[in-house]
Amino acid sequence: MSNKKISNSISDSIKQWIRPEIRALNAYHVPPASNCIKLDAMENPYQWPESMVDEWLGLVRDVELNRYPDPSASALKDSLRKSMSVPEGADILLGNGSDELIQMILMAIAGKEKTVLSVNPSFVMYDMVATYAGMKYASAPLNEDFSLNIEAFLHAIKQHNPAIIFIAYPNNPTGNLFDRQALQEIIEAAPGLVVIDEAYHAFADDSFMSEAGYIDNLLVMRTVSKMGLAGLRLGLLAGKSQWLAEFDKVRLPYNLNVLTQATAKFALAHQTVLDEQTTIIRNNRELLFAELSKLESLQVYPSQANFILFRTEENQASIIFEKLKDAGVLIKNLSPVGGALQDCLRVTVGMPNENAAFLKALKQAL
Ligand code: PMP
Repeated sequence: MSNKKISNSISDSIKQWIRPEIRALNAYHVPPASNCIKLDAMENPYQWPESMVDEWLGLVRDVELNRYPDPSASALKDSLRKSMSVPEGADILLGNGSDELIQMILMAIAGKEKTVLSVNPSFVMYDMVATYAGMKYASAPLNEDFSLNIEAFLHAIKQHNPAIIFIAYPNNPTGNLFDRQALQEIIEAAPGLVVIDEAYHAFADDSFMSEAGYIDNLLVMRTVSKMGLAGLRLGLLAGKSQWLAEFDKVRLPYNLNVLTQATAKFALAHQTVLDEQTTIIRNNRELLFAELSKLESLQVYPSQANFILFRTEENQASIIFEKLKDAGVLIKNLSPVGGALQDCLRVTVGMPNENAAFLKALKQAL
C-alpha cells in the first residue's frame, strides 16, 4: 500500500469519526522559547530562595510515588482555604490548573442547545472548551477602552439565555478589572451560573471571593499559576457545595498528583515568599507601564494583572513582534486574532533586567 493511499484513508476516517467542530480547531499552540527572554505566558519569573528549595527537596524525598494521591486532596484544600480566604459558606473543588476546572464545569453542563457567554476579547479557553463540550459560544463586545459594556452584555444575556457566563477579573488579555457594580448586575441577571475567573487576583485590588458560597449562582475561580507555581498545575473553584458536588462527578479520580499536592502545600506554608515576589512584580509592572507610556507611537492599557497590553501603529504589531523575537525577546502577538485586538501585543512583566531588555529591543523595533 502506498503512503498516499494510507494518508487518504486516514483523512477519510478522520472525516468520518472526528467531530467537525474539533477538525475545524487548531490545537492550543505554545511557541518554543529556547534561548529567549520569555515574556509571553504570564509566568512569575522568580525562583525560590536556596534554603527553601533545599527544604522542599527533603520533603519530596518522602513523597510516596508508588501510591495514588489523596483523591480529595483534603490537606491541600485546608491550606488553600486559608491562603485564599475562602469563606466558610463555600466549598472547594480543585483542578489540574483552572483550565481543567473550566473543562469539568462545561462537561457537566454540556448540551448542543446550551450557550457559554463571555466578553470579547477574553480568555480563549472559554470558547475552546465550549467547543470541546459541544456547546454554543457567544460573546458581548467590550467598549473601545476594554471596559465592560454593560448594556451590550445584558442584551447578550437576553438574546442567548446562557447556561453559564465566564468573566475574567482582571480580564485576559486586556489586563483591566471590570466595574464591580456591573458584574453584580450580571450575576443578578444571569439565568444560570456565573464564574468570576480570578486567575490574576494576586496582582489586583479587588475580588469576589468573599461572596463565594453566599450567592447561589456565583462561582469564583483561582489558580496558583500566576503566584509562581505554574508548573504544578493547580486551580481552585469556590462556591455553593451543591454545584461543586455535581462538577465533582466529572472529575477524574486522581486529577492532582502527589507531587503537586505536597509541593503546593509546602509553598503555601511559605506564602510570604510568594507574596514578596508578587509585590515585586506589581512594582515592576508600574515601572514597565510608565516606560511603555513614554513611547508615543503606542497606546498602553492600564493593568491590574502581571502583563500589559499595548497597541502599535496600524499593521506594525507583527513586524515589531518578529523584531523582538530576533532580538531574543518573546512576547505575545495578539494582532492575528483581529477585531479589537488588531495591532495589539501583550508583554508579561518579567524581572527588571528582562523588562529592560524588552524595552531596549522595543525602542529599536519601533
Ligand atoms: N483563566 C485565565 C483568565 C487565564 O489567563 C489563564 C491562564 N492563561 C487561566 C485561567 C488558566 O490558568 P491555569 O490553567 O494555569 O490555572
